[in-house]
Amino acid sequence: MSAQPQVPPPWTAQARSALIAAQRAGRLPHALLIHESPGAGGEWLAHWAAGLALCQRPAAAPCGACTGCRRALAWQHPDLMRVAPLEDSRQIRIEQVRELAAELALTSHAGGWRAGILSPADSLNRFAANALLKTLEEPPARTLLMLVATEPSRLPATVLSRCQRLSVRAPARAEALAWLMQVRGTGDWGGALDAVGEGPMLLAQAEPGPLAQIGAETRQTLDALAAGRADPLATAERWGRSELALRLRGFEKWLTERIRSGIVAGADITELRAGPYLPGPRAFLNIRELFGLLDEVRELRTALEVPLNRALALEALFRRLAPRGAGAAA
Ligand SMILES: [Zn+2]
Repeated sequence: MSAQPQVPPPWTAQARSALIAAQRAGRLPHALLIHESPGAGGEWLAHWAAGLALCQRPAAAPCGACTGCRRALAWQHPDLMRVAPLEDSRQIRIEQVRELAAELALTSHAGGWRAGILSPADSLNRFAANALLKTLEEPPARTLLMLVATEPSRLPATVLSRCQRLSVRAPARAEALAWLMQVRGTGDWGGALDAVGEGPMLLAQAEPGPLAQIGAETRQTLDALAAGRADPLATAERWGRSELALRLRGFEKWLTERIRSGIVAGADITELRAGPYLPGPRAFLNIRELFGLLDEVRELRTALEVPLNRALALEALFRRLAPRGAGAAA
């Protein structure tokens, strides 16, 4: 929850206009679900909308200059609350939601609106989501509760049905690059985007050079593994020692690109699923195997904090990349 980039992402312009129109008409929703593509800036938009609600010049909100705006921008406004999973947890817990609900039920410190942001809201556990439902059913006056989620389908339908929805899609690559240049100056943003495999908002505070380097190295390693030119065990140990989360993102992206290129190649998907290899000169794993690997890489990524033998899990995945028979001799 760092400071916002000063240049608003242009791909959020439509969402911002809709919110401004609602605020000017006195129809700011009580509950807003911001459905974002990964890294597209859903939380940025929620933070911006909090400024819209907390600005002391409603006719020009968010003016960016009043005390309300400045405090909101710095995450120091007493009427702005943010709830995220606690450090040692991947879930937003019921106690956190109860605390937020109790805060929102109080009179605002500044005499205006109160805003609460739950992000990522798809990390609300079942009990926490149920507790939130009470607030959504009887929202206190002048409160703006925002749920930021990349996978809203993980939230109960009862919660979803009580929220107005707003989507933030990741921008086209050229637009993402232009914005990053504007916000951060020159750098290997293309390489950095390739490395994280997600929207540009993740890079708003990052150093592009090292990211791009790890991304490129990750792709080369995976190509080598798939060609039987790299050792799965040594690679798994190396990945386990540094930047594993980033490398797993790269792995995910690498698999996704292969799945796409298989589909784009024009072959019938059912045929691909049935056949052992993709058609074409570069025989490779079939689509079903690629999807299976993708699921397992994602699982490994979300389970990173859980103590497990990462190297062992990675090595097993790498062995499945190698051409059939290549690992047999080892
Ligand atoms: Zn203001």
